[in-house]
Amino acid sequence: MAKTNTVAKNHDPVVVQIAVPVPLRRCFDYTTNDVITIGSRILVSFGKRKLMGILVSSNPTTIPVQKLKPVLCHLDERSVFSNSMFELVRWSAQYYHCPIGEAFSAALPAKLRTQDSYTDPTVEPHYRIMPNLSDEQINSKLSRSPKQREAWELLMGFALTTGLVAGVEHNSLDNGCWVSQSEILQSLPGSQPVFKRLIEKQLIEIRQKPSFWTQPGGKSDDRVVLTPEQRSATKKIIDSQGQFAPFLLNGITGSGKTEVYLNAAEYMIEKGLQVLVLVPEISLTPQLINRFMARLGNRVCAVHSSLTDQERYTTWWRANQGETSVVLGTRSAVFTPLKNPGLIIIDEEHDISYKQQDGFRYHARDVAIKRASIENIPIVLGSATPSMESIYNQENHRYQSLVLTHRAGQSSLPVTDMVDLKTQPMHDGVSLSLFEAVRDRIQRQEQSILYINRRGFAPVIQCGQCGWQALCSRCDSHLIYHQTTHKFRCHHCNSRKPSEKTCPKCQSILFFAGFGTQRIEESLRSRFPEARISRLDRDEVTTQRKLEEELEKIAHHQVDIIIGTQLITKGHDFPKVTLVGVINSDQGLHSIDFRSTEYLFQQLVQVSGRAGRGDLTGRVLIQTAYPDNTYLDFIKNQDFTRFSQYCLGERKAAQLPPYSHIALWRSESTNDGDSLRFLQNAKAIGEKLIIQMKLEGISVMDAVHSPMEKLAGRYRAQLLVRSSIRRNLHLLLNQWIHQIEHSRSVNRVRWSLDIDPMEMF
Ligand code: ADP
Ligand code: ZN
Ligand code: ZN
Repeated sequence: MAKTNTVAKNHDPVVVQIAVPVPLRRCFDYTTNDVITIGSRILVSFGKRKLMGILVSSNPTTIPVQKLKPVLCHLDERSVFSNSMFELVRWSAQYYHCPIGEAFSAALPAKLRTQDSYTDPTVEPHYRIMPNLSDEQINSKLSRSPKQREAWELLMGFALTTGLVAGVEHNSLDNGCWVSQSEILQSLPGSQPVFKRLIEKQLIEIRQKPSFWTQPGGKSDDRVVLTPEQRSATKKIIDSQGQFAPFLLNGITGSGKTEVYLNAAEYMIEKGLQVLVLVPEISLTPQLINRFMARLGNRVCAVHSSLTDQERYTTWWRANQGETSVVLGTRSAVFTPLKNPGLIIIDEEHDISYKQQDGFRYHARDVAIKRASIENIPIVLGSATPSMESIYNQENHRYQSLVLTHRAGQSSLPVTDMVDLKTQPMHDGVSLSLFEAVRDRIQRQEQSILYINRRGFAPVIQCGQCGWQALCSRCDSHLIYHQTTHKFRCHHCNSRKPSEKTCPKCQSILFFAGFGTQRIEESLRSRFPEARISRLDRDEVTTQRKLEEELEKIAHHQVDIIIGTQLITKGHDFPKVTLVGVINSDQGLHSIDFRSTEYLFQQLVQVSGRAGRGDLTGRVLIQTAYPDNTYLDFIKNQDFTRFSQYCLGERKAAQLPPYSHIALWRSESTNDGDSLRFLQNAKAIGEKLIIQMKLEGISVMDAVHSPMEKLAGRYRAQLLVRSSIRRNLHLLLNQWIHQIEHSRSVNRVRWSLDIDPMEMF
């Protein structure tokens, strides 16, 4: 690996390789006479544009130096990447076959993707009144400028309120008379020029000082006595301090995994080390952040979506300086540099939000494993329903196994039953058993959650006479009726149009088939008019704040029935929820995606895990037309071990991941046909290469239309490649992608390559 901060002064121009954020898988040569700093940001002209790239190396080329363009500008004196992050990004770009410039760019905080300077965001100008001024001096210098006097008096006021008047304690430079620029600008917007004049007149002085860092929280002592299983898991993690050691913490919902994280983190922090915690998008709630802050003190920094770019940069900076103890964030936080890394924790490691679905298609869990090996630290993957990949790695002793088999504290796992929809029909989406169970909960002043994985009112709009259905004109999908907005909407391309009551073909009345959250809500409101009902889906809950408000209401028992999508399945601890009803689980049983049963199991276990978290026993009712399905049987018994063995057996027989390595080419075009032809051509290129390179164990499937061929007006196709030997797959892809980039048909389509794809459409 190239060392960062290599410094050399050059008299003759030297050639440098710059990673520029463009969709080409290579670096570009430029010349420079300046000091070369690997990992620094460089401004270059690229075609007609100016782009900011990263200096990756300095090697001579065969092209004469005179023919190369000089770089425009060196933006940094230091590398913006730590050594280990530089290595991690290079590895990730290679592994995911992502253009290196795009990977570097994605790994930086947004502020450093611009030409903004790489300087300490935690300091800002502070002003104070010059000590030892006489009244005459002050009056003569301010007499003819009311604006300057106003500014002076403001600063004086700040000094007086802190009880420290200039001149009284002029020995100390770090006293309370210093007032930050941001405080001043709040009172006197736009006053910087005035303050500049005051400095020139030597009435005040200026200094760069750390801005005040306040964070709520502080150490609390609400700790619990760890169970023997929790203690043993924690011990194994902390015993691995300072060495690469991946762990799979497999613990049922509510078994106290978070307690294990907290204890292991606390140990590392006491040793002066830093901890990186990754959580799925949906789980980064204030409850979770507070729990970490309450236990680990106020040096916990959360990287959440409502931070500004400046705040993100500040967090990044503090982590890099070793000033934070814990960085808590979603996917992209995996690239946050830590000065003294001690431990990485990936909560809900199976969660699909760890995989970036466009551009730089990395999987944050897998990148984190690589990171831990580069930084020589332990890493914990936690889940109640680990991914098949992780289970497989555990069986092959690549991951050490940690297990929590009991719920912590008083609570026990809920009892699960199936409601057979063939013998017990639904009325407006709710069977009699489920209806009675909800009624009982209301009478006992407990809460119910009804889970349905579909927004809107009804997913199918159909004419009873002629069979016409409302379909999206831009996608191969049904329009969904949204009652609250009276719109027909497509959930794939987001297009919408006014709803209609009659068939456009034969004018008969349209009817709605199937169920969405809105219809279930209506159905329950009509049956329980007194009940307080809350609906949580992306239509109703559009902001993080709204989600937090709703969760607070549930926690304080201001709601009797909660109807929701995945939004309610994760992480929340509601002691009064004793019933979880699953409206319909059957789509997950019959999907073309080979991972669909795994996802179904994860979802149902997660949502069931919401029941009976307190000292009341929980109950789960799953409505299904296939009560005898093998998978549902595992779910009924919450038998993850048997489920995973069964699932792995199926994967092995079909030679699917984790028993093989896959990559998926995707293409899309505005013309029907171009995308498929492009991949048919790609297949031919690939097969030729396999023979030329004498690679074994690789099979290239046929190029096919994507399961949903048309999406947002574009026609899509895909091509799956599978290999029993990972190395061979990557050797092939290196050459293959190069030929694709230079093929003639490449301009007619948009294409991408997805390594270890998590969704097959
Ligand atoms: P998980 O992360 O596995 O879902 P949590 O760590 O959130 O589980 O624990 C679930 C609940 O049990 C929390 O309310 C937590 O405070 C409590 N808990 C965890 N460990 C213990 C313990 N050893 N003794 C008592 N209560 C515990
Ligand atoms: Zn009709
Ligand atoms: Zn659409």
